[in-house]
This record gives sequence, C-alpha cells and structure tokens, in this order.
Amino acid sequence: MTSKLIQGYEVVIGFETHAQLSTQSKIFSRAATAFGAEPNTQACAVDLALPGTLPVMNRGAVERAIEFGLAVNATIAPRSIFARKNYFYPDLPKGYQISQFEIPVVQGGSVEFFLGEEKKSVRLVRAHLEEDAGKSLHEDFIGQSGIDLNRAGTPLLEIVTEPDMRGSEEAVAYAKELHKIVTWIGICDGNMQEGSFRCDANVSVRKPGQPLGTRREIKNLNSFKFMQQAIDYEIRWQIEQIEDGHAIQQATVLFDPDTGETRAMRTKEDAADYRYFPDPDLPPLVVAPEWVERVRGQMAELPRVMAARFVADYGLPEYDATTLTQSKSMAAYFEAAAQACGQPKLASNWVMGEVSRRLNAQDIGIDAAPVSPAQLAALIGRIADNTVSNSAARQVFDALWSREGSDVDAVIEAKGLKQMNDTGALEKIIDDIIAANPDNVAQFRAGKDKAFNALVGQAMKATKGKGNPQQVNDLLRKKLQG
Ligand code: ADP
Ligand code: MG
Repeated sequence: MTSKLIQGYEVVIGFETHAQLSTQSKIFSRAATAFGAEPNTQACAVDLALPGTLPVMNRGAVERAIEFGLAVNATIAPRSIFARKNYFYPDLPKGYQISQFEIPVVQGGSVEFFLGEEKKSVRLVRAHLEEDAGKSLHEDFIGQSGIDLNRAGTPLLEIVTEPDMRGSEEAVAYAKELHKIVTWIGICDGNMQEGSFRCDANVSVRKPGQPLGTRREIKNLNSFKFMQQAIDYEIRWQIEQIEDGHAIQQATVLFDPDTGETRAMRTKEDAADYRYFPDPDLPPLVVAPEWVERVRGQMAELPRVMAARFVADYGLPEYDATTLTQSKSMAAYFEAAAQACGQPKLASNWVMGEVSRRLNAQDIGIDAAPVSPAQLAALIGRIADNTVSNSAARQVFDALWSREGSDVDAVIEAKGLKQMNDTGALEKIIDDIIAANPDNVAQFRAGKDKAFNALVGQAMKATKGKGNPQQVNDLLRKKLQG
C-alpha cells in the first residue's frame, strides 16, 4: 500500500461513528425520538431512570443494525450481549449507558470507495447498539445549566473501523461513503447538523515501518468540511510536537471551527475506567438466521450490488458505476436516461460530467436538475445519430439547463446547430482548403501529422464548427492520399 508521507511521517486514522437509528421510539422505551421537541417532553420513566423501571429492547433498532451488517458484508452475531458502561455525568440519570462491549451484534465487514480513481477498502471492527445520553443546556443568560433528557435512550449504532486510513482525504471519503450507506438503506437520516451522524477521528502519526503511534481522538465531527480541517490540523500539530521532542499523550480533543484548532478536552479513559459488565436487566440479544434472511429479503438493492449490475448490464467501467451510485436519485436518473437512449456509456459520461458539474456549481441535488433524464436521452440520441457534434450538444444542454428551451430538436433547429453530414458540401469545402493551403499539404505529404491537424482545423472552421469531425477527417485523408 502506498501512502504519501507528510514531512517523513505516515498518518494513521481510525473512525468511530455514531449513527442515530431512525426508529420512531427509543431503544429501550416507548418515548418518541423526534428532534426539536420542548425539553423533557419526550423522556419517560425509563429514560429518567426512575426506580423500578426496566428496559425493553426495540426490535426496529435491531433490524436496522442487521440491515447495516448486511450492507457492509459483516457477520451478524447470533447472540450478542448488552453491557453497562459506568460513568457519572448529569445528562446520564442511570449513572451508566447501556451499550454492547465484548460481543457486539455486527462484527467485521468493510466499506469500499474510490479516492479519486484509486479503490480503497476500510475494514470494520464492529458495529454495536447503544443508547444516547441526554444534553446539558448551558443557559448563560441566567447563569444556569439545564438538562434535557429528550435524547436519552435514542438508539445509536456505533461503527468502528480498523486504523486503516492513511490521510485526511481518505478519512473524509470513508465518512462520506459510510454516510451514503446508512442513508441509502434508510437506517439513519444522516442529518449531521442535528447530530444524527457524528464521527470521532482517531489520529496518530509514525515513521514508516514503526509500530502505531499514540493516538488522539477528535470528538463529534459533524460536518465533512470541519472533519478535513480538524484532521489536517491534528496531523500538523502531532508532527510538530514529535519534531520538538515531545511525546504524544493519548487524549480526547475537540475541534474549534472558529480557531481551526484542536484542543485537549480530557485525557483518555481506558475500558477499565468504565467498569463494563453485562446488564442483568437485558437478556442476550438472539438473532436467528431466519430473521437475518427476512431482513435481507426486505432490503432494497445496495449501492455495491447496483454498481456491479451497472457494470454487468450496461458495460460501464467500475469507476463510472461507483460514481453513479453515490445516491439513489443519481442512480435512478442515470438508469432512466440510459434506458431511454440505449447509450449507457454516453449517458454515464453526461451524468458524471455536464450534469454533475452544474449540480455542484449550483449546490443542488439531482432531483432539482432542470434537465430531465428524458431530455438528456433525447440529446444523446442526437449525438449518436450524428445530428449534432459533442460541442454543439453542450450548447443544447446549456439551453435546456437554463430553461431557454425544452425540446431538444427545437433547440437544435433554433440555434442552427445541426451537424453538416452532407458529403458533397463537405467535399467542396475540403477542396477549397487543400487549394488554399499548399504548404500544409506539402508538409503532410512529407510525413508531418501536425500539418494534417491544421488542415482539419481549417476545414472545421469553414463549416462553422458544424462539420461532422469524423467525416471531415476521413474525407480530407482520402483526398490528400488520392
Ligand atoms: P478504545 O477502546 O479506546 O475506544 P479502540 O481500540 O476501540 O480504542 O479503538 C478506537 C478507534 O481508534 C478504532 O477506530 C481504531 O481503529 C482506532 N485506533 C486505534 N489505535 C490507533 C492508532 N494508533 N492510530 C490511529 N487510530 C487508532
Ligand atoms: Mg472504542
């Protein structure tokens, strides 16, 4: 594996991601999980940890964990255990968080993605179910802090990777791929501002060939932009420390977007600090193979599977297939266009090229694209049947995108973009060009290919760019050789 070094150091990153599972009710109670309610209106006796209450596992949360496991080719544990993770904090009324420790429900698996054109695979260690804590609200204007327990007991899936990533770009690409998977299969709404998808990045550096360095964990990265900035800052900071002769202390740090710096929050706890032990209130979670198969049967086609189908059915390169399956809506757009025009590779080029470029520039999703798959297919049809050249097609596309026109043929007509396919007319133009450029002709005959390109250029110019380039090429070569 190649990884680029920074000042002679190799970067090592592992991720822990908390994905909030999109259930209606909490993981161990019937209280609602909806975001944004008045504080403490969605916390029931179980969430408040009143004496005598008992947790009851939410089946929907388990199903979502199974779906995730299947989506990343993991093993679904037939029997997993809930444990108590003990710590004191005002927003944790029980004094412990119910989580999974030694035996998680999802084990192994991997996340695959492209970094540029390079294929990467990040191995997952595990994904376990746990409950979220409440929130402390610091109300500075009255100098008091309040506790909101609405979020207490919200189901989370914590997804942990091996330390497989070798740079900030790769880490962000992993996080985006993971975000795509959980939203594609619909187990998480992916809303990062609301905290539905939060990433902790464990970062260390080492000289190549050395054992793993000491890591610092950047907590709660809730935007891809901050994620990149935070990791880049952390890498520079760690290298500087080491170069100055200081050892890195294992720590938990926070990223401050205002200063662009990471700051130590606390020294890192060990598992032993949490005094994990199996929760006696919850029986082992048993997932029978039939349950797994039933869930598998209900799941929509996965991005990986869809990409493989695009390769097999449409003959697309793997890179195209992976890019087009970035979201369900982009995949659907491509498929509709490809099927309507019967030219999958052209459809792929257009969706990945012109369409994506404009969506990115305007920062809109493909659902809001002003050009429909049917319009794109009609345009591709006109390229394939030689009615328009590629460059003319881009002009047509511009007109469709800006809603200057909506019918492809009408736009071609109105703008006079029809390609010249008339051999007689082209021959006449080419004869004129040959007669007017004896120097280039002589150079071509002396074996200079550049001279040929110059003549093609002249001929295309004489057709005002409307000549069919292939035809111009062929005719010119025939005449010069004849
Ligand atoms: P903890 O139990 O303290 O959370 P884990 O062993 O579960 O520690 O690791 C947490 C995360 O840190 C994992 O994603 C793992 O890949 C990553 N990690 C472990 N060691 C390193 C390291 N030296 N550098 C970077 N990441 C690491
Ligand atoms: Mg951990």
